Amino acid sequence: MGISKSDPIIIVGGGAFGLSTAFHLTRSGFTNISVYEKDDQIPPRYSAANDLNKIVRAEYEDPFYTGLTIKAISEWKTPLFAPHFHQTGFLHCASGDAPQKALDTLSRFRASAESNTQTKPHVIPLNDSNDVRQACWQLDGPLTGWKGYLNRFDGYAHSGNALAAVYRATQAAGVRFYLGQHGAVDEVVYVSTIHGRKSSGIRTKDGKFHPSSLVIVAAGGAVGRLVPELGKKVVAKSWSVAHVHLTDEETSALRGIPVTYARDLGFFFEPDPKTNLLKICPMGGGFINTDSKTGVSHAPDTLEESAFVPEHDEKQMRKLLAHTLPALANRPLVKTSLCWFADTDDSDFIIDYVPGTSDSVLVLSGDSGHGFKMFPIFGSWVLDVLETSQQRNVQWRWKQSDPNESKGNWGGDVSWRLGESKELSEIKPKILSKL
Ligand SMILES: Cc1cc2nc3c(=O)[nH]c(=O)nc-3n(C[C@H](O)[C@H](O)[C@H](O)COP(=O)(O)OP(=O)(O)OC[C@H]3O[C@@H](n4cnc5c(N)ncnc54)[C@H](O)[C@@H]3O)c2cc1C
Repeated sequence: MGISKSDPIIIVGGGAFGLSTAFHLTRSGFTNISVYEKDDQIPPRYSAANDLNKIVRAEYEDPFYTGLTIKAISEWKTPLFAPHFHQTGFLHCASGDAPQKALDTLSRFRASAESNTQTKPHVIPLNDSNDVRQACWQLDGPLTGWKGYLNRFDGYAHSGNALAAVYRATQAAGVRFYLGQHGAVDEVVYVSTIHGRKSSGIRTKDGKFHPSSLVIVAAGGAVGRLVPELGKKVVAKSWSVAHVHLTDEETSALRGIPVTYARDLGFFFEPDPKTNLLKICPMGGGFINTDSKTGVSHAPDTLEESAFVPEHDEKQMRKLLAHTLPALANRPLVKTSLCWFADTDDSDFIIDYVPGTSDSVLVLSGDSGHGFKMFPIFGSWVLDVLETSQQRNVQWRWKQSDPNESKGNWGGDVSWRLGESKELSEIKPKILSKL
């Protein structure tokens, strides 16, 4: 191993991948870890995981990720994580209007759930809307043409609370946190050595230099600003998120419902009992924010730029509610935002050293909108890279960027998503465009 357990290690980003890494490194005896986070709080408002809930489902089109999620789910049931994991089930359907692509994807997910020996006993086929109603009586809408399956092995995690729990645990274990103006990282600093370029640490936006032996960049949708070598291999992308504010009685009536997902309409979760908020996400091809000079998409710098959802997505969320919980279909949508993540064209993560840095910069990226479920175990894969000095898993290796590569078809080619990606500038409400 190139790095010793007492060497200073800097982790940039106090979101899901950064905190999980701090947790696993500390647990395996690393003693000199500092996390730099640009927000002044954890869970950070810029983190895609600063949220009420994220789906934790084991079925994947790629059995590699199914195996990993089964492992993650068993860790979700251990004392630190268990308060934040809710095994409510995953009701996975398509409506009668769903295009063939959505039906095909649903079939692949179902085949995955039914072929794995651990998930199979938990799968209930839902052959029509009556079956869906039997599986979840609270869904009292028409559910026109709905069919699919319910997988009781799955559920969701309260992601914001899980981040807060791991923050407290790692802080108690000696990890240092630098937040806000002291934690916002401007650049990874490099020096030339006889062996080539090597990072000597980072510079924060307040101008201070912080030395380290290893910089681990876990900056979510903002990764391209700190690791420009990724080029177009990682695309900052966002999806809409909105909530309906329920009464206490409505929240109680929906307690324990499964994560309800129609592939062509989007999904929602059981309401959060603390805030009475029911979260909805319409999915789709997502929104990108391409820099016209470089062709690379970056997450916007301010939260204000993402504090809305486009009209089309609002209509789709209302349609989902009209199908399932019609009493909520015309309610105001609150806490609307675009949530940014780091997308790759094959939906694989990147957990590898940045080439040409003498193994001094490790990047954790490409979460592709499905990384949170791995929160309890993600950091163990980083540990593995440090211990073996290489990424043994080919799927997570560095992806070489080609500067001549065109923007590509971000969204349309991804098997598990419907629709094309649009530019943020095309969908921004007029009032925000003037900011
Ligand atoms: C709408 C939506 C729905 C999703 N649903 C699911 C789901 O159902 N299930 C699931 O498993 N996953 C889901 N995900 C994906 C999940 O949220 C991500 O995989 C996960 O949050 C990725 O973790 P990360 O650490 O890479 O990024 P983040 O959690 O976004 O954290 C990155 C952190 O880096 C910080 N940072 C950035 N730049 C700097 C800088 N220069 N200096 C200091 N700090 C910096 C940010 O402030 C942020 O806190 C969803 C994502 C979105 C957007």
